[in-house]
Amino acid sequence: MRIDKLLANRGYGSRKEVKKLLKSGFVKINEKPVKDASAHFKPGEDIVTIHGDVIEYKEFIYLMLNKPPGVISATEDSLHETVIDLLEVDDAVFNPFPVGRLDKDTEGLLLITNDGGLSHQLLSPKKHVPKTYFAVIEGEVTSEDVDAFKEGVVLDDGYKTMAAHLDVLKSGITSDIEVTIMEGKFHQVKRMFEAVGKRVKYLKRLSMGPLQLDESLELGEYRELTDEELTELK
Ligand code: URA
Repeated sequence: MRIDKLLANRGYGSRKEVKKLLKSGFVKINEKPVKDASAHFKPGEDIVTIHGDVIEYKEFIYLMLNKPPGVISATEDSLHETVIDLLEVDDAVFNPFPVGRLDKDTEGLLLITNDGGLSHQLLSPKKHVPKTYFAVIEGEVTSEDVDAFKEGVVLDDGYKTMAAHLDVLKSGITSDIEVTIMEGKFHQVKRMFEAVGKRVKYLKRLSMGPLQLDESLELGEYRELTDEELTELK
């Protein structure tokens, strides 16, 4: 693997910045300074250091984003900003993508990775990974709605959803709720409320499987998953 790829992978800047860093002579492979950006090393065998600190190559990246409204859950979009545009990681090195989609106006937990295997596992319709959302609903959410969600509701295309757990936190002119669904149909939460004659005004994802949104992340902020979070997720 090329040394400049490793440095970009570990967040040492753009290709230009990495070149400059290499020129400084502080980057070493097995103790020998290396200045050529195209120099190669063997991951897991050769030891690369910067100022004496060992730099390890990571094939996969796992980021938790608190998705803000107004951005698209995609890698590219000709009109709108995407969740990938929010990242400072070098996407030419990692090729990260969002695990599933949140609507443009939905906020909250979005996992971004380049680990296709994990993504597949979390999104597989067979796995029924639970996803919990907080929502504000226009009108009063009733115990009949709770029962209807438990039973499964029929969406506009005739599909009957699996049982979903609905918790009413506050009921009134608008209602605050938490809902947990075990599948991921297009606009599922909004369409489930439409099926009981109600409209979602605000939607935020709180969790996906064992992964919980870190509430200390402001909208648009992200961080790497901890080792513990990753172990639980896999
Ligand atoms: N359900 C929706 O309706 N929208 C989302 O973004 C996620 C789940």
